[in-house]
Amino acid sequence: MTAATHSPSFPPVAESADEVLLGLDPEQRQVATTLRGPVCVLAGAGTGKTRAITHRIAYGVRAGILQPASVLAVTFTNRAAGEMRGRLRGLGAGGVQARTFHSAALRQLQYFWPRAVGGDMPRLVERKVQLVAEAAARCRIRLDRNELRDVTGEIEWAKVTQTVPGDYAGAAAKAHREVPRDAAEIAQIYGLYEQLKRDRMVIDFEDVLLLTVGILQDRHDIADQIRSQYQHFVVDEYQDVSPLQQRLLDLWLGDRDSLCVVGDASQTIYSFTGATPGHLLNFRNRYPQATLVKLVRDYRSTPQVVHLANGLLAQARGKAAEHRLELISQRESGPEPAYTEYPDEPAEAEGVARRIRDLIAAGVPAGEIAVLYRINAQSEVYEQALADAGVPYQLRGAERFFERQEVRRAVVTLRGAAHSGANDPLLDAVVDLASQVRAVLSSQGWTPEPPAGSGAVRDQWESLAALVRLAEDFSRAKRDATLADLVVELDERAAAQHAPTVQGVTLASLHAAKGLEWDAVFLVGLTDGMLPITYAKTDDQIEEERRLLYVGVTRARLHLTLSWALSRAPGGRGSRRPSRFLNGLRPGSAALRRSAGSADGPADGERGARKRGRRGPVQCRVCRKTLTDAGEMKLMRCEDCPSDMDEGLYERLRDWRAGQAKELGQPAFCVFTDKTLMAIAEAAPAAEGELAMISGVGGRKLERFGADVLAICAGEEPGGGSGEDA
Ligand code: ATP
Ligand code: MG
Repeated sequence: MTAATHSPSFPPVAESADEVLLGLDPEQRQVATTLRGPVCVLAGAGTGKTRAITHRIAYGVRAGILQPASVLAVTFTNRAAGEMRGRLRGLGAGGVQARTFHSAALRQLQYFWPRAVGGDMPRLVERKVQLVAEAAARCRIRLDRNELRDVTGEIEWAKVTQTVPGDYAGAAAKAHREVPRDAAEIAQIYGLYEQLKRDRMVIDFEDVLLLTVGILQDRHDIADQIRSQYQHFVVDEYQDVSPLQQRLLDLWLGDRDSLCVVGDASQTIYSFTGATPGHLLNFRNRYPQATLVKLVRDYRSTPQVVHLANGLLAQARGKAAEHRLELISQRESGPEPAYTEYPDEPAEAEGVARRIRDLIAAGVPAGEIAVLYRINAQSEVYEQALADAGVPYQLRGAERFFERQEVRRAVVTLRGAAHSGANDPLLDAVVDLASQVRAVLSSQGWTPEPPAGSGAVRDQWESLAALVRLAEDFSRAKRDATLADLVVELDERAAAQHAPTVQGVTLASLHAAKGLEWDAVFLVGLTDGMLPITYAKTDDQIEEERRLLYVGVTRARLHLTLSWALSRAPGGRGSRRPSRFLNGLRPGSAALRRSAGSADGPADGERGARKRGRRGPVQCRVCRKTLTDAGEMKLMRCEDCPSDMDEGLYERLRDWRAGQAKELGQPAFCVFTDKTLMAIAEAAPAAEGELAMISGVGGRKLERFGADVLAICAGEEPGGGSGEDA
């Protein structure tokens, strides 16, 4: 796996500032050489945004225009920040700070706390959700697991938008938040949560930014000190900046404008936390004199991958979509993306593991392969399948490599061996550096072959193996390097958090995959209900899910495989359907007709038509004729066009309706008419939003019967079952 620019571990350092510019296209070069004033780069995935800003900093430093210590580069994840520090070092610009907003703020807060507040900085709360649960319990509000997650999300949103508990209800309504509970209840829980933190003298993730902002606002002396240190700011992934991060950035800047931001509105995937692409898209309003650069050439992915990415974007709606940038691949042709349907999740994981083994056998390094999923809970079945297939994998990011216990221990041992030098009997017999390192690390559990199985032992072995590989690369790059030289290199890397690549298949969530790239990417679990995830309900939330898939697709350089399973467990009903986002894009789904028993959902066009049906003319989704008959409009097709209804589902829905009608003492059509029931059976909605689109399913019915109907459509018993498995 690599973030941003891809290069060997020990690239030759550029000879001069001008050499840093080699390998940039004209627009990227413009970014790199515009070192004064505000700069905004709007560009799609894989167009070299991260590369351009990394080279910009390096060029400025090498040309003597930027002082390394005066630059603060802000990236989105620790992993990306670590990667950027490594690249900068490789370009001869070590010493530049590359951090996340959070880690930069944390450092400043720790440093200035004694002066600004006095005493030691409070501890960071470890289990926020637990504390929210406790606050809710004290308010005598019972939350189920999903509500707890959503209420925690609301509190986070409130904090990054700087909304205090008393203002939460009004702010949530104004922002059209889909609140998981009554807003007053959430405000109450939020208030108590803040109280509990104060009582226990702990702060949370958001407090780190809030407190830093507070100190910078109140203490001009401290603000001045920070501003005199940092003069130039660069922000990657700017489309996902939250109002609070923006506030911090403004405070860092003061009245200066040496700011370069890069981003892609089509990759906005954190708006659920309060982030907004508005700052990126309106940059020019704020800084009319800003240099605006657009990059369109996609250097990362093959035309096949890019075609799919463009297709996904073409279906996107909403504000971010208005700014979509069509990508043009610069790479040679590659394989078509593969789409695979599996009967159940274990079969999907096994199938993916098998394909990964084939890829590795064909020469693709394991570290250049990733399996990406929507939620972390999906990883387990892949861990199991990869372990069974004997494929190494890593769940952890590379960013904290040097903090791992086994790595720290190994470095201490290597340092000891370097000190005792030739007197170490262990090293007597071996002369070359790589063999010495292998010999030393053997005492720590390194073996030439990986241990069987997965888990902690395997994880530790991977860390040691990464150190061995680093030593091999190092001794190749510097012929007569000694063990002492290697230890110096390791210390420097640890200080710069420049971790070696761990040679395992990466298992990561789509959110965590942002900015990264691999030769081969497996997007798994792509069912409707997982992507979009069931709790994405509003149009905006659904659009964010689509962008998440776009981010996933654009991580692949060459091989892209998309898969889904019809049931969770073997022997299930097989009632799931592939993600609606793939309709019209995956082979065979473009046709609106689906064969009986097929798992295809209606194509996006159909859903669009269904939605539009409330506003404009409704077309038959089979023959496209405009419909005028009310019954046909409800069905979304001509009466005599072939139905693609799941007969079994229709029967189950009828049985359920009969039961409901009896219970209510009303005729069956008061529950749902035949036409509506038929439309439900045809659409087999996987989420409430989809069910709501069906004519005849109003708000009241949705509330009353929605859960039952969705359960039946998911092949579960009405009145029970888990929503996540829809
Ligand atoms: P994302 O939107 O996913 O963050 P990005 O725009 O930041 O993507 P980079 O990660 O900087 O893109 O670059 C994508 C890939 O293309 C990297 O492997 C990078 O090395 C390569 N690349 C970028 N520009 C060039 C170029 N001018 N010549 C050759 N390769 C390039
Ligand atoms: Mg990038």
